[in-house]
Amino acid sequence: MLSDLEIAQSAKIKNIKEIAGKLGIPESMLEPYGHYKAKLPLSLIDPEKINGKKLILVSAISPTPAGEGKTTVSIGLCEGLNQIGKKTTVVLREPSLGPVFGIKGGAAGGGYAQVVPMEDINLHFTGDFPAIEKANNLLAALIDNNIQNKNSTLGIDPRTVHWKRVMDMNDRALRHIIIGLGGTTSGVPRETGFDITAASEIMAILCLSENFDDLKKRMGNIFVGFTYDKKPVFARDLKAEGAMAALLKDAIKPNLVQTLEGNPAIIHGGPFANIAQGTNSVLATKMGLSLSDYVVTEAGFGFDLGAEKFLDIKCVSSGLKPGVAVLVATIRALKYHGGVKLDEIKKPNAQAVENGLENLEKHIENIRKFNICPVVAINKFADDTVEELEVVKNLCNKLGIRSAITTAHAEGGRGAVQLAEAVVEVLNECKSDFKPLYDWGWSVERKIETIAKQIYGANAIDYTAQAKDDLKKIESLNLDKLPVCIAKTQKSLSDNPKLLGRPENFIVTVREIEIAAGAGFVIPITGNIMRMPGLPEYPAAEKIDIDSEGRIKGLF
Ligand code: ADP
Ligand code: MG
Repeated sequence: MLSDLEIAQSAKIKNIKEIAGKLGIPESMLEPYGHYKAKLPLSLIDPEKINGKKLILVSAISPTPAGEGKTTVSIGLCEGLNQIGKKTTVVLREPSLGPVFGIKGGAAGGGYAQVVPMEDINLHFTGDFPAIEKANNLLAALIDNNIQNKNSTLGIDPRTVHWKRVMDMNDRALRHIIIGLGGTTSGVPRETGFDITAASEIMAILCLSENFDDLKKRMGNIFVGFTYDKKPVFARDLKAEGAMAALLKDAIKPNLVQTLEGNPAIIHGGPFANIAQGTNSVLATKMGLSLSDYVVTEAGFGFDLGAEKFLDIKCVSSGLKPGVAVLVATIRALKYHGGVKLDEIKKPNAQAVENGLENLEKHIENIRKFNICPVVAINKFADDTVEELEVVKNLCNKLGIRSAITTAHAEGGRGAVQLAEAVVEVLNECKSDFKPLYDWGWSVERKIETIAKQIYGANAIDYTAQAKDDLKKIESLNLDKLPVCIAKTQKSLSDNPKLLGRPENFIVTVREIEIAAGAGFVIPITGNIMRMPGLPEYPAAEKIDIDSEGRIKGLF
């Protein structure tokens, strides 16, 4: 079997003008970045055209180290839909360099279901991440400059500033640092740190913004900290938002690339799915819906995390409404939820698949709570047996849900035609009428409780003393009407990563609640959430290389 990169490099890649042509974009409006990538101007977004178009949300059961393949299935489904004559664009997140050099690898799909040019997408792409990093770090510099200077000072208490610098690299040594050393001319010493760029609030803001004015407004709303007199300080008090938005002049525009079969792919933005909304930009999704009849899009981690936020935050904020939710499941992951250890995961074990189904079933129940029709995509791996696959099909039949086995990884679009047909059938027959799980106007506690009980399956919520203080702070700042973006482990439906399957009788502990007033949500934290990952002992970076002709090797 060829590696993902070998498959991608041997693809007959088309000039981006041809892909734009398929979408009816006039050449004069395309902003090419080389031959195979382009930025799309926001003027191509047309609210009138979005009405009546079909939005397909791809999510998954609770992820396991075995991997589910949401991106791979999303790309495969786009190919499959185009093969059956449906004009479809896949809209995805941009990969972060952290996983590329760390363990997981890139995020441009896999096998014969990939987006290309794979090397560019996984490395610097069109420079959106660096621009986000600069906008984030400009605010950091303005904050420290304000603390330094006597005349312009707002009187910020440095101990209340939580705004960190960011960099797109797994670099654990930067998690906790002291800045401002070196005497009076080099700043005021204070403790701070770096997060990875994908974890920046600027990323979340860019991905929720509707236009430049909205972008500026949200960036002005970023909560910086308090003055010594306990007055809140926002980025607008530092007059930061104009210059920050200027740095995002091009980063706000969605990027057009192509799938291996020459279908359009829009890739834009990449926020985390725990401390942020976990899905590509509103503008990219709206762009896709303006230019084609069907859009396939992915939300990070399992349905309980990325998809819940996609629906309750992104859809409510933007007015988007998905017509169907595709839930990706793998036999390996179901076995893992059914109690099989990782090193035994490839051995046939239909009973373990059966035991793991409770996780799948809970996610299906959750999809229905949003009044959306589900389809189950069984992402087939080479060692899955017919008997094991039948177990999943039988459950879906019993629940009255369409399911399809997909082999897009091995076969490209041909392997996703059945899934495409199932999705179209469900879109035609089952009337989704999306309704959010909660009302933004409810109290923060009621919103948290609703998600934790209904989606995670918790019995009760416990707040630490810190979290209770945070609730008071949020109310006093009048931010309690914002939606909640719960940061939780992706490994379990509960807040305990060890509880696999369908955990019951557990309490969710909210340890603190952060404010992301610019993005427009508050973040109840329920576990240890890593915002600056470290590299593993043997990083993937060791295998990445470039030859004398300038060809990249070793990316995966
Ligand atoms: P997710 O989006 O859920 O994180 P990806 O689509 O990125 O998952 O897939 C994770 C990894 O698993 C990728 O390296 C991909 O190539 C691989 N993968 C996905 N589906 C299959 C499959 N059916 N067979 C083999 N490998 C697969
Ligand atoms: Mg993915």
